[in-house]
Amino acid sequence: MAIIRVHDKSFETYLPAETIQQRIKELAGIINKDYAGKKPLFIAILNGSFMFAADLFKHLTIEAEICFIKLASYKGMKSSGNVVTSIGLEDDLFGKEVIIVEDIVDTGKTLHNFLPKLLHQQPKSMKIATLLYKSEAIEYPLVLDYVGFDIPNKFVVGYGLDYDGLGRNLKEIYQLV
Ligand code: 5GP
Repeated sequence: MAIIRVHDKSFETYLPAETIQQRIKELAGIINKDYAGKKPLFIAILNGSFMFAADLFKHLTIEAEICFIKLASYKGMKSSGNVVTSIGLEDDLFGKEVIIVEDIVDTGKTLHNFLPKLLHQQPKSMKIATLLYKSEAIEYPLVLDYVGFDIPNKFVVGYGLDYDGLGRNLKEIYQLV
């Protein structure tokens, strides 16, 4: 098992590159079946999901579109706490079959806050695909339609996910030692 350093912390291999790729192929196969004859719009949430989105997209055989958005959390109105806004969503979602692409769902707060804003545009359907899911950490209710791996509640880096800006380039996913 490889140990690597990112900034001041040590991480060990958790998911090898081949395991990740194999699972993404399986997820794409399921999506190809579920969306046969349809033309979904994938909305990939930056930065972390860029690798997952690219690899998933390569295995699609259906017609599909993709766009990338960035979410920004900030302290808004006192009563509601963090408000999530998006940058880069130019497509009109009305009547579209939307699939949100996330790298990881942890507490679920980010998507839980953001999904109503997308639903407001009245897409025909909206599903969520996440590569990683920390089921033990979930605090906000979310229906996750396509999950790559249910992982323990430990910090991970690699394959798009960073620790303070670094580690996104790693082909494998590493867990904090
Ligand atoms: P949530 O809103 O579901 O609690 O958190 C979602 C976001 O938290 C993810 O998109 C990601 O940016 C960050 N996050 C949660 N867990 C991890 C982790 O283990 N590693 C990294 N690199 N980011 C994480």
